[in-house]
Amino acid sequence: MDSARNSVGEEMHRFVAELYPICRSLTGQGVRETLRIIGREIPLEQREVASGTRVFDWVVPREWNIRDAYIKNSAGERVVDFRKSNLHVVSYSVPVKARMRLAELKPHLYSLPAHPEWIPYRTTYYSEDWGFCLSHRRLSELPDDEYEVCIDASLTDGKLVWGECYIPGEHVEEVLISCHVCHPSLCNDNLSGIAVATRLAKELAARKPRYSYRVLFIPGTIGSIAWLALNEKQVQRIRHGLVVTCVGDGGRFTYKRSRRGNAEIDQAVEQVLRHAGFAYTVQEFFPYGYDERQYCSPGFDLPVGCLMRSPHGSFPEYHTSADNLELVQPRYLAESLARYLEVVEVLEHNRTYVNTQPKCEPQLGRRGLYQSIGGDSDAARGNLAMLWVLNLSDGGHSLLDIARRADMPFGVVRNAATALCRHGLLREAPQDTALNQEALHVAQIT
Ligand SMILES: [Zn+2]
Repeated sequence: MDSARNSVGEEMHRFVAELYPICRSLTGQGVRETLRIIGREIPLEQREVASGTRVFDWVVPREWNIRDAYIKNSAGERVVDFRKSNLHVVSYSVPVKARMRLAELKPHLYSLPAHPEWIPYRTTYYSEDWGFCLSHRRLSELPDDEYEVCIDASLTDGKLVWGECYIPGEHVEEVLISCHVCHPSLCNDNLSGIAVATRLAKELAARKPRYSYRVLFIPGTIGSIAWLALNEKQVQRIRHGLVVTCVGDGGRFTYKRSRRGNAEIDQAVEQVLRHAGFAYTVQEFFPYGYDERQYCSPGFDLPVGCLMRSPHGSFPEYHTSADNLELVQPRYLAESLARYLEVVEVLEHNRTYVNTQPKCEPQLGRRGLYQSIGGDSDAARGNLAMLWVLNLSDGGHSLLDIARRADMPFGVVRNAATALCRHGLLREAPQDTALNQEALHVAQIT
């Protein structure tokens, strides 16, 4: 099991390494190339919307493509070179070709004095500007000189593109998995999420799940806004959702609740983390962060949380060249994928049952049920789980409710329910109350 998990971690890390050199941004060839590589792993449809299209209060930006960029000294040497790191150019910089003294150039140079060897990551998405990012050491070594500055980029009417992997299940109700694809060579904040979401989609596509799954690979903010604008009619199918980001570092797991705060997805993730054997943190929803901000805007209020490890901004390497292939490690990716799969297991198997013999406890020993679960060490817990399931299965408590109340891993409670069903002591409730409540909520907002 552990070696299988390690090899999955290695595979995801290799995937991150393959995507690492590509210069991604909100738009442009880097995103297309990234989607092409993801599409090699899973069935992925590429969707697009034209620059200038209004999406709610926003306008789809022009497409940015970059070929080369550098700062050359008077000897003609590249002292800053885009070909060495795509972080050197402020993303969405307008094209520049000029000569200038250091004093004139300096307002366009960004560095991190606190981490003099690291290159920062900067963007200028929504204002026309240009700039270069470089290590503070390199910046402080630049002599006064006449520099040749070149950003060979284009900003033209084009398309915003994103990838969508739809995995049909038994029901049209959907689980939304969303990750952003707009960062250049940054591993934890961006590529780790892409790797885990791709692998998760691959595993789901090999099954016939109960829910349908929609995995989105979108540019941050404008991508989710465009997706919501173009899919407004179908969002009511979304029963649960998670934003995948920062899942490759060694930090503890962090779950940011949906705006609703107590949706089934919130309960499911917290139940998984509680029994996963790692320290973890739960955050209440706040209107900042990743695309959960859009999914949880009040006009949608979708049950979408964000399961990550170290949150954005909380690790020093965040948005710098130190968020690299060493920060992200195979085993951390593998652990993150495992948590996501456990959450999927809860969502897939969370049902509500009715005890067919509710007057006093049925005699379990006579039916051999006391022996039918697990090994010796697990037997006591399995027996207790059966008693919990029998007691609370009145049509008003789902298996997840029961696992939470009994403070047991979901799988133990689910196994107990399976055994009880086999002996006719439990049957599925005619109406899934939990789902109905979700449906009611959706009806109220649409
Ligand atoms: Zn970021």
